[in-house]
Amino acid sequence: MKVIEVNGLRKKYRDRFVVDDVSFSVEEGEIFGVLGPNGAGKTTTVECIAGLRVPDAGTVKVLGGLHHAELKQRLGVQLQSSAMPAKIKVWEALDLYSSFYRDPADWHALMERVGLTDKRNTPYAKLSGGQKQRLSIALALVGRPKVAILDELTTGLDPQARRDTWELIEQVRADGVTILLVTHFMEEAERLCDRLALIDAGRLVAVDSPAGLIARVQDSQHVTFRAPAAFDTALLTGLPQVGEVRRDGARIEVTGSGELLLAITTALSSAGVVPTDLRAEQATLDDAFLALTGRKIST
Ligand code: ADP
Repeated sequence: MKVIEVNGLRKKYRDRFVVDDVSFSVEEGEIFGVLGPNGAGKTTTVECIAGLRVPDAGTVKVLGGLHHAELKQRLGVQLQSSAMPAKIKVWEALDLYSSFYRDPADWHALMERVGLTDKRNTPYAKLSGGQKQRLSIALALVGRPKVAILDELTTGLDPQARRDTWELIEQVRADGVTILLVTHFMEEAERLCDRLALIDAGRLVAVDSPAGLIARVQDSQHVTFRAPAAFDTALLTGLPQVGEVRRDGARIEVTGSGELLLAITTALSSAGVVPTDLRAEQATLDDAFLALTGRKIST
């Protein structure tokens, strides 16, 4: 079942379209990522989905087209811009937010789950960046949403806190919540997302799984090894998986696609050639974005 359907979405500020004809849909139970460089239009896109901005054109349907009041009950939103009053304590924020919902989660359990129980009486302004982030995730989940929209949830966190947050998101998904995640971190997108929408300068570049996107990079595989002096590269150049073969003394470098490593090792073994120092490297999402847009996502 599709829980989010975006069709031909366009949004402009002044005379410039910052979201320009974006369409994608998100299936129930997915962690779906919106990935692109800063300023690409990711936040604007999800703000339109969350009903916080009015699109200039196109349609957005969430949970089959629920109306605003009902949608607010079913949607958990964590945005970069959402700040809390400095003096509100952790428990007060959770208690307040849970009062907005008809059928809220037990916020004590949620507070425990995001590891904030020992900070329950700490005012918002005194929390660390990671603690604020975890509180905002808890607040997005306190209404027991069907869909959670999370924007740049690990920006500013140290690597350990980032991994902890990823684990938390995976647990939330395991509970059946569909997650729409905005990110500009490749590693986060690759680790967490089932599928990704790549966005660049307001336009949708591609929608696919991380592996599917990487597979689109031509010659996405890179294999090197050392071969005996008598080795004839013609053994490899004819293979369908091989793009290019370069030789530098004993060192052979092959680029190609598909099951490149397997094709090479099979060909070498049937010719009785024993390679040494065999290494294989895969293209990354960064390479995929570069190949699709001509630009790198800088983090
Ligand atoms: P991202 O989330 O990918 O970083 P945003 O959706 O935040 O991108 O922004 C896309 C573009 O729209 C940026 O150039 C940003 O400066 C501009 N923008 C965002 N919000 C506003 C606004 N309220 N008024 C004018 N321009 C805006």
